[in-house]
Amino acid sequence: KQKDHASETLFDTQCPFCSVQCAMQLIEERVVGRNRYKVVPKDNPTSNGRLCIKGLHAHQHALHTERLQFPLLKRNGRFVRVSWEEALSFIQVNFKNIQKEFGNDAIGVYGGGSLTNEEAYLLGKFARVALKTKYIDYNGRYCMSAAAAAMNATFGLDRGLTNKLSEIPHARCIILAGTNIAECQPTIMPYFHQAKKNGTFFIVIDPRETATCGLADLHIKIKPGTDAAFVNGMLKVIFAEGYVDEQFVKERTEGYDELKKHIEQIQLDEMAEMTGIAPEVIQFAARQYATAPTGMIFTARGVEQQTNGYMTVRNFLNLALVTGKIGKIGCGYGAITGQGNGQGGREHGQKADQLPGYRSIENPEHRKYIASVWGVPEEELPRKGVSAYEMMQKIDEGEIKGLFVMGSNPVVSSPNARFVKRALKKLQCLVVVDLFLSETAELADLVLPTSSYLEDEGTMTNLEGRVTWRPASRKRPGEVKHDWEILCEIARVLGKGDYFRFSSAEEIFHELRVASRGGLADYYGITYERLRNERVYWPCPSPDHPGTARLFEQSFAHPDGKARLAVVDNEYQKEQTTEQYPIYVTTGRVLSHYLSGTQTRRSPALASRQIEAFMEIHPNTAKKYKIENNALVKLETKRGAAVVRSKYSYKIREDTVFVPFHWSGKQNINQITDDALDPHCKMPGFKICAARISSIVDL
Ligand code: SF4
Repeated sequence: KQKDHASETLFDTQCPFCSVQCAMQLIEERVVGRNRYKVVPKDNPTSNGRLCIKGLHAHQHALHTERLQFPLLKRNGRFVRVSWEEALSFIQVNFKNIQKEFGNDAIGVYGGGSLTNEEAYLLGKFARVALKTKYIDYNGRYCMSAAAAAMNATFGLDRGLTNKLSEIPHARCIILAGTNIAECQPTIMPYFHQAKKNGTFFIVIDPRETATCGLADLHIKIKPGTDAAFVNGMLKVIFAEGYVDEQFVKERTEGYDELKKHIEQIQLDEMAEMTGIAPEVIQFAARQYATAPTGMIFTARGVEQQTNGYMTVRNFLNLALVTGKIGKIGCGYGAITGQGNGQGGREHGQKADQLPGYRSIENPEHRKYIASVWGVPEEELPRKGVSAYEMMQKIDEGEIKGLFVMGSNPVVSSPNARFVKRALKKLQCLVVVDLFLSETAELADLVLPTSSYLEDEGTMTNLEGRVTWRPASRKRPGEVKHDWEILCEIARVLGKGDYFRFSSAEEIFHELRVASRGGLADYYGITYERLRNERVYWPCPSPDHPGTARLFEQSFAHPDGKARLAVVDNEYQKEQTTEQYPIYVTTGRVLSHYLSGTQTRRSPALASRQIEAFMEIHPNTAKKYKIENNALVKLETKRGAAVVRSKYSYKIREDTVFVPFHWSGKQNINQITDDALDPHCKMPGFKICAARISSIVDL
C-alpha cells in the first residue's frame, strides 16, 4: 500500500525483530536528490502504537548495500554471479545426484522462526513432497522447543500465551522466570507497568539483575540451572500450608496423587541449599503467588534453554494448575517468544515431528488428512526426522550429504558452533537462502537472495497467538525472489511443480488454512480479508468465529479435557562446574541486536549501540581471576574458546558470567556453549556451561 505525497512515500509494514510484531510505517523522503528514511509507529492492539529501538531502525539492514541481489555460485573457492536458471539447474543436478546415490534422506532442510507462516508451511511441504526427505527441522528448536513440548504435554496444546496481553494488569501476582522482557520485547512493558500501578506483586527469577528486575518486588538471584528445584520448594510450601485449589485440581487435572507424594518427600532446606535461596524467601514467594486472587507466570529462554528446560517449564505449569490460576481473567501462563515469527514458525510443519496445524507426522489420521490436502499418497509422506542439532550430527557422520538452509544462520546460533561449522564444511552441497552473505552462507556452494520484510507479503503469528498480516511495501532489489517463490521454482526443477502452483502468499495461506482445519492450531476461519482489518487469535475454526483470546476456560486440549500434572525431579542442568572449569557462563540478548546479528550488525544505528560482545562479571570474581575491567578475556570450555571484553557489574552472581550471543568469529559465545540435549525436546543446554576464564594480553 503506497501513498505518494509529492516527495514522500509511506510504506505500511511491521517490525521483523521480535514476536510482538509492532506495526509501523517507513517514510521515504526525497530531499535534494537523496533519499531520507524515517520510521513511525502505527497503532495496533498488541503494542498500541509503540516501537522500540530495533523497530525504529529496522529499515537500515533492509536497505543496506550488502543485500544479496543475485544468485551466487562458488567456483574455485570464490562466489560468482549466476542467473536463476543456472542456480536452479545446480540444485537440480546436485540434489538429484545425491538422492540417487544415497537416498532421499541424504538431503536435509533447515528452516527458521522468522519465516512467514506461508513460508514455514511451504518449507515443510517442500521437504516432504518435493524432496521426500524426513530430515527437516529449524532454529526454533533452539528457541521455543522446551516450552512448546511442556505445554503440549500439560495442556494438550501449545500457544505462547494462554491469555491476551491486556489481561496482565489483572494479575495480582506475576512470576517472570528467565525472561528479560524489558530488553527483548520492550513494547509490551507498559502492560506490566500498569500491573505494578495496580499493586501487583512481581517475583523475578534470574541469576542476573536485568533491566526487567526494575519491576521486581522480590528478585530471586538463583543459582543457574536450579529453577525446577526452586519451584519444588514453592510447591512444598503450597502443599504444606494448604494453598492447593482442591476443587480445580480434582475437576480439571490428572496426576495429583503422584505429585503430592513427590512433594511430600521434598525438603525445603535441601531446595534452599541447591538454589542458593533462603528457605524463608522460597516460603515468601510461594505464599505471595498462592494467596494472590489472580496470578500469571511467564518463562523464556533463561529457564528453557537448559538440558532440563522441559521439566522446569512443566513444574511452573504445576504451580499454575495446583493453585487453579489458569483459564480465567488474569490467570495464565506465557512463554515469551523471541523470534519474529516464533509462534507461527512452529505451527505449520517445519519441525521434524510435525505436519501443519500442529498435526503429528506419526499419527495415521493426521498423515492421511495432510496427504489428502497435498494430493499425495499417505505412504509416500516421510516419517519423523531428528532435531536441529541432531541434523548437524548426521551431517558430521556423513548420513546427510546436502543441506538447504532458509532463514537461519546455524554457524553462529548453534551450540558447540565450531563443531557445526566443521560439519557443514563436510557437505557435498550446501544451499543457503538469505538476505546477506551470513557466516553460514559463506560456507555454501550456492547462495540465493531473498526478499526482506519490507518486500515480502505474508502472515505471522505473534506471541499472543494472534495472526497478523504484513503487506509487501517496497520493490525488491536486483533479481531477489521471495522465499516461497524460490521453493516453488526448485520444486518445479525437481519435477514436483504441480504441487507448488502458487502465484501469491495469499494462495499459500488458503492451502495452509485448509491444512490446519480441525487441527489444534486451526486457522480455517482466518482469511487475508479479515487480517487486513484485524489481528485474529487462533484457534479460529470458521470465518464467523471471533478467534480464541483466552484458552482453557472450560477444558484443556487433551481428549479427556484435563491437564496433566508432572512429577519433576530437582535435576540440575547437565554441565556442572569443576576445578578445571570453575565458573558458569550464561548467555542472552541485548536490546539493540537480534538473533545471530546477521541483520542488526549491519544496521549502523543498532550496531553502534553495542558494537561488540562483552562478558558481564562481578568485580569480586574479576579480582579472583585477575581480570581488569574492559580487558580482553578468554572463555574456555571443553568445546572451544571465545574472546570478549570484560564488563564489571554487581548485577550478576559471583559464580556466573554473562555473554550475549549476537556476534561471530572469536566473539561467538556459542563456540563454547553446551551441546547436550534435553531428552524430551532436544533443546541444547545453551544457558549454562562450565568454563574457565583468563585475561589475555594480546591476541
Ligand atoms: Fe516491537 Fe519487538 Fe520490533 Fe521492538 S523488536 S519494535 S518490541 S516488534
